Amino acid sequence: MTYGFDTLQIHAGARPDPATGARQTPIYQSTAYVFRDADHAAALFNLQEVGYIYSRLTNPTVAVLQERIATLEGGQGAVCCSSGHAAQIMALFPLMGPGKNVVVSTRLYGGSITQFSQTIKRFGWSATFVDFDDLDAIEAAIDDDTRAIFCESIANPGGYITDLDAVAKVAEGAGLPLIVDNTSATPYLCRPIEHGATLVVHSMTKYLTGNGTVTGGVVVDSGNFDWSASGKFPSLSEPEPAYHGLKFHETFGPLAFTFHGIAIGLRDLGMTLNPQAAHYTLMGIETLSLRMERHSANARKVAEWLEKDPRVAHVTYAGLESSPYHDRLARICPKGAGGLFTFALKDGYEACVKLVDSVEIFSHVANLGDTRSLIIHSASTTHRQLTPEQQEAAGAAPDVVRLSIGIEDPDDLIADLDQALSKASG
Ligand SMILES: *Cc1c(COP(=O)(O)O)cnc(C)c1O
Repeated sequence: MTYGFDTLQIHAGARPDPATGARQTPIYQSTAYVFRDADHAAALFNLQEVGYIYSRLTNPTVAVLQERIATLEGGQGAVCCSSGHAAQIMALFPLMGPGKNVVVSTRLYGGSITQFSQTIKRFGWSATFVDFDDLDAIEAAIDDDTRAIFCESIANPGGYITDLDAVAKVAEGAGLPLIVDNTSATPYLCRPIEHGATLVVHSMTKYLTGNGTVTGGVVVDSGNFDWSASGKFPSLSEPEPAYHGLKFHETFGPLAFTFHGIAIGLRDLGMTLNPQAAHYTLMGIETLSLRMERHSANARKVAEWLEKDPRVAHVTYAGLESSPYHDRLARICPKGAGGLFTFALKDGYEACVKLVDSVEIFSHVANLGDTRSLIIHSASTTHRQLTPEQQEAAGAAPDVVRLSIGIEDPDDLIADLDQALSKASG
């Protein structure tokens, strides 16, 4: 029996607490779990039995969230971690090594561009940035040391839609896993695994929790990739010395990546999600479809209004008929284009700064995916560390403002932008 999305977002992974009957998933605020006996402890430590040892590795509240998200994404397993950025490192960690590279889209969350262009170099890894609308460029960027391809489904900040089917074909042709950051779309609007993604990562900080209360991330594994085929992924295919020579792929099959993420990734990198945060995220996910529908409907109304306004130079929302990405919507994000987009002001940088200072309902914050509407001028904040060329390529030019449209009354949002635009322009 397969249930619909609205049912699964409430029930997947959860059941009444066997000890108390508690209907809501309890917050298991416990660091450690009592072993039945010494043999039980040994079996758990040998990965011969699945169970709870210590909450850096696994926790019953976090486990419910992992199963819920894996189910909603159509994956085999998931590993929660302490932030979206932690999830990106956790996704790459088993695949990469010194001298290896990842081919990534130029259109990414600003923090991801910094993580990939600067910080991963400290591990001896590198990233090659290309325009993911240019499939030949992706192919040309792949070399013998490439270990993954990385992009966003709905790309931050512009709300561009990546042609996941086409990118997945390139990845498959090269025998490489495709990692898709599905933060802006959520599994309600887009299911990257159905378009060929190997791994899906999320910042749960955004729409999954949905109200700006949690920092968290997750890596979902499709279970579809053959880690042993090419010899390029020894962490998954070769004997692991820390587990008596166990081979993850041979032993765990389609759950190899998930088990590695817990048994090696969380064990040694320690980027663990705490059970309180998992609880808030579980609460958020119960209403995910309702919120994403409203976010998308509101964003479309606001984008349509902005597009007609003489003070506005252009609007990037993929839900607009005028968007070059509009024809990808039905195939990649059939239920809507989400709540995130940018628009440019004819009066440029100064007007953008004035606009963010003049809004009343919108909050000027470095976040997205909240029930409340948010605004930010990327060039002077989130994308400030980037070069002008990187800003332009990422869709965060100096005259561009990013909106994350909330679930308030859309007429109030339009009225607020109208009064703020009057103060900002002319
Ligand atoms: C916020 C965000 C991240 C980083 O997530 P954190 O939870 O802030 O670490 C990564 N990708 C996208 C698309 C994001 O919006």
